[in-house]
Amino acid sequence: MFTLIDLPYSNDDLQPVISAQTLEFHRGKHLQTYVNNLNNLVKDSEFEKMTLEEIVKKSSGAVFNNAGQILNHNLYFLQFQKPVDGNAPTGKILDLINRDFGSFEAFKDEFSKKSAGLFGSGWVWLSKNSDGKLEISQEANAQNPLTRGNAPLLTIDVWEHAYYLDYQNRRAEYIEKFWSIINWNEINNRL
Ligand code: MN
Repeated sequence: MFTLIDLPYSNDDLQPVISAQTLEFHRGKHLQTYVNNLNNLVKDSEFEKMTLEEIVKKSSGAVFNNAGQILNHNLYFLQFQKPVDGNAPTGKILDLINRDFGSFEAFKDEFSKKSAGLFGSGWVWLSKNSDGKLEISQEANAQNPLTRGNAPLLTIDVWEHAYYLDYQNRRAEYIEKFWSIINWNEINNRL
C-alpha cells in the first residue's frame, strides 16, 4: 500500500509563502486522492510490489499519472523549510549550478522563466542527466525527468491547486516566493 507522506514541518511553517490552508488541501486532499487512486489501480497487478520510481519508469496511462503525481509531490513537499531571507544554495549543488548555469542568479532566472511560461498544468524540474550535467525542464501533467534517466533534484508544482488559494492567478509571485523556502541541504542529499 502506498501512503501519504509525513511532512518534516507543520502546516503553518511555510507561511506566508504557502499557507496552512493550501498545504491542508494540497497534501490532505489532492495528494491523498492520488494515493487512493494508485492503491486501487495497482491492486493485484504487476505494479503492486514496485516502488514509485519503478512504476513511473514502467507504466503509462492512469497508473503512470497517479504514481507520477505521488512521486512528484513527495519530492516537492520534502524540499521545503521555514522561509529564510536571502536563501541560497551551498555545497555541492552550488558548485554544480555555478558550473552549468554560471551563477545561482542565472539559474534562478531561467528556472523561474520556465515555471512562469509552462502552459497549463505541470512541473518544472532541475535534474541531473546521465552525464552528470544539470538540466532545467518543463514537464506536462505528471511527468518527471526520471523517465529519461535523469535524477530529479528540485521541482515546482505549477498546477493551479498549488498556488491558487494564496496567489489566485499570480503564478509569478508564487514562483518568486518559492525560492525562500527551499531546503538546499535536502537538494544536496538528492545528488
Ligand atoms: Mn500539486
